[in-house]
Amino acid sequence: MKFYTVDSHCDTVHLFTKGHYNFWQQNTCGQIDYPRLKQGGVNLQFFALFIEPEYKPFLALPRALQLLEHLLSELEKNQDKIILLKTKTDLQKAVLNPRKLAIIMALEGGEPLEGGREIIQIFHRLGLRSVGLTWNQRNRLADGVGMGEAAGGLTKLGKKVVKNLNSLGMVVDGAHLAKRGFYDLLETATKPVLISHANAAALCPHPRNLDKEQILALKAQKGVVGLTFYPDFIAEKDATLEKLLDHFCYVADLAGTEILGLGSDFDGIDKVLPELADVSCLPVLTAGLRRRGFTEKEIAAIMGENMLKLLSANLSEEDEK
Ligand SMILES: [Zn+2]
Repeated sequence: MKFYTVDSHCDTVHLFTKGHYNFWQQNTCGQIDYPRLKQGGVNLQFFALFIEPEYKPFLALPRALQLLEHLLSELEKNQDKIILLKTKTDLQKAVLNPRKLAIIMALEGGEPLEGGREIIQIFHRLGLRSVGLTWNQRNRLADGVGMGEAAGGLTKLGKKVVKNLNSLGMVVDGAHLAKRGFYDLLETATKPVLISHANAAALCPHPRNLDKEQILALKAQKGVVGLTFYPDFIAEKDATLEKLLDHFCYVADLAGTEILGLGSDFDGIDKVLPELADVSCLPVLTAGLRRRGFTEKEIAAIMGENMLKLLSANLSEEDEK
């Protein structure tokens, strides 16, 4: 059965800034490039602009713009192969014509948006459609998981930014948020929330993973979690594909398959599963889901349909002129 595959997180854009890297050819470095996305059957890839800690706080905005310029210039030069999705209409067209690689421009770490409404508006104009409020640190919007037990929730500005993003048709991503912020986000958001890359804490007790209550709360809000391939979020030691599949089974048993998606975190991770060394290996995941008893309909939902529904609920019909 053919299905539409969506990956809600990768950090490939920083490779665009390196002179020797060519996204359009198969590379020996990294885990994602155009040929390997095609081999893996990915139809829609979220590309995050990840703001590295060394740029924060003062250079976060210029760094985001620098990464954005690299992404936009690749898009401009390769319009025959790739399309940036901005509206629900774009999304519907992309699903009908999956030949072109569709992409969603995302931001990982909300520091560049701390200036508020006008800054969010200009990023929206430039094509940004998904925003991770924090990375692991604290910023003016919220606390990341790296702040530990004492971490706070969303700030007043953070809540305002969430409402602003939702009203503009942009997805809010709560991966990396500390627990209080996660619940604040579910309460504040007016559209279904994305957790773009995380796993189940019951199987791997890492602070980046979601516990049982968080998974159920996300389900109640109609959110989606992209389960991630980073070994440290799969098992405390000896992570394998089977252990990743355990996360899919656990979340499905707990909350149903409609909450599940993929959030590889490729090109943002320093190690990989032996069986999922890069995006071209994605068919082994599908085969694994089948082996674990998921139906074809459930597999199609997990591989992409759930993310498509989330995007559809978030994106605006058309850009206002
Ligand atoms: Zn991340």
